[in-house]
Amino acid sequence: MERRIGVYICHCGTNIAGTVDVAAVAEYALGLDSVLVARHYEHMCNDPGQNMIKEDIKEQGLNRVVVASCSPQMHEPTFRRVWEDAGLNRYLFQMANIREHCSWVTEDRRQATEKAKALVSAAVRRVFYHEPLEIKEVPVNPNTLVVGGGIAGIQAALEIADSEHKVYLVEREPSIGGAMAEFDKTFPTLDCAACILTPKMSLVGQHPYIQLMTYSEVVEVSGYVGNFKVKIRKKARYVDVDKCNGCGTCWNMCPAIVMPSKRIIRKGDVIIKEAV
Ligand code: SF4
Ligand code: SF4
Repeated sequence: MERRIGVYICHCGTNIAGTVDVAAVAEYALGLDSVLVARHYEHMCNDPGQNMIKEDIKEQGLNRVVVASCSPQMHEPTFRRVWEDAGLNRYLFQMANIREHCSWVTEDRRQATEKAKALVSAAVRRVFYHEPLEIKEVPVNPNTLVVGGGIAGIQAALEIADSEHKVYLVEREPSIGGAMAEFDKTFPTLDCAACILTPKMSLVGQHPYIQLMTYSEVVEVSGYVGNFKVKIRKKARYVDVDKCNGCGTCWNMCPAIVMPSKRIIRKGDVIIKEAV
């Protein structure tokens, strides 16, 4: 299929045109392979700018478009809608960022213009090979795995669970809380660490959308985005978790407890902690 490419260079007021010679870039673009139209305009994202492109698509039979303007983060969806309105596949389009990547990072007009030309040339070459794509909907597993039950993992789990999505919170230690559980105060406000942490720990334990898996570790992750499979090893804890009420009597009787990150040895009333 014959490629009929249109190139549009945005001034963005003086954001781009103050540093880049937009007329020179448009003239350069017109000399590139398969480019039929190359224009520069003050604001490509406003209605007259969008209409200019739509008219060219219809009148010149353009089947691919390059816009050299700001970051795609800013206006890629805007321009994709324009192509769709003009009857073109939304993916037969390429943006070249000549603002954040060019005019905003130098005051040297000559160098900025040369870089803008190079970015436009690359975008034209790239759009040449674009194929029309269709949007598909596929089922995804909306459940979330949060690894690590420190304060960050706890907060992430609570926020996701509050939006009514199931969360698996995996913590390798016997309890969630992490390093914050060992602090007295938090920086910089000197708030009581336990006052912040413990209500959140309690919420996690009671939340209907959170499945807490303590003393457990992720051993394998497979699959792909939207459909991951995760293997989790739950370590033996020698108590019936459903029946345990956390009274602590067994803790007092136990001569030694070994945890992954530290070893606690009890000798009479003396507790010795060792890093492993
Ligand atoms: S398209 Fe981007 S670069 Fe052009 S005027 Fe709009 S915001 Fe500025
Ligand atoms: S003694 Fe208390 S803390 Fe230990 S397992 Fe029994 S209920 Fe749980």
